Amino acid sequence: MSDHVEVLDSHEATVGQLTVRRALPRRQLRTIGAWCFADHMGPAEVTETSGLDVGPHPHTGLQTVTWLVDGAVLHRDSLGSEQVIRPGQLNLMTAGHGVAHAEEATDGYRGTLQGVQLWVAQPEATRHGPAGFAHHAELPRIEIGSAELTVLAGTFGGVTSPAQFDTDLVGVDAVVGPGHAAWELNPAFEYAVIALEGQVRIGDAIAHPGQIATLGTNRQEVDVEALETSRLLVLGGVPFPETLVMWWNFVARDRAEISAAVASWRDRGERFGEVDSRLDRIPAPLPPWPSGSSA
Ligand code: MN
Repeated sequence: MSDHVEVLDSHEATVGQLTVRRALPRRQLRTIGAWCFADHMGPAEVTETSGLDVGPHPHTGLQTVTWLVDGAVLHRDSLGSEQVIRPGQLNLMTAGHGVAHAEEATDGYRGTLQGVQLWVAQPEATRHGPAGFAHHAELPRIEIGSAELTVLAGTFGGVTSPAQFDTDLVGVDAVVGPGHAAWELNPAFEYAVIALEGQVRIGDAIAHPGQIATLGTNRQEVDVEALETSRLLVLGGVPFPETLVMWWNFVARDRAEISAAVASWRDRGERFGEVDSRLDRIPAPLPPWPSGSSA
């Protein structure tokens, strides 16, 4: 077992009108458990003309996990769900065979927006299944040493999130006061820690906001030292056994599945349904492979 912690940089991407830091996927790091996508948005100022406004777009084969640190976002989807999410709450949308949603700035909110959006790959057993949406207004919180933890997914520190996933995983928001904390880990899980705010030492590495520290598997615990009050996102899970093909908003297993999803969105069939949104539908870009290619 190596105790070494590897630190990778995020890359910048644009979502709606916001620049985000994308920690997953990276070329060197495709998944942590079933976690296959991680965007850190903000902190950014929401004004009359700028905010998170992402028009209707489709998803397949994944669950979206939205968690806000500051601000408010209105979720609408093709199941008819309409839900404002606020800090401390979790929105969990399951795509299965197909769903569409929009993420809108709320009419009233002005101020700082900060949060994360994560995707969880669904396993073969459920990825062709029905779509769903759940809003969790209350999540379990615990204190361990100088750290205040909110368990978004799975079990950590003896408490369990009510959010339902199809594979064994964990997701935790941690606000760590200056000083040390030691957290017990599941040796069967692989883990990564995304630094959202402040500087932290994780094992033998220092992580700054915009960096993801990977811990691998076979660890009983991790030692964290916050050099200032810091916010971290801990992701873990049983290594995902299936090879994913991810493109645009789709998680699949091969290019033919993705080409089929692109065609379904373009043709406005029943697969993705309609979202009641004031924003324009986002057209799918053309996949960078020849049509009919299934490799
Ligand atoms: Mn989305």
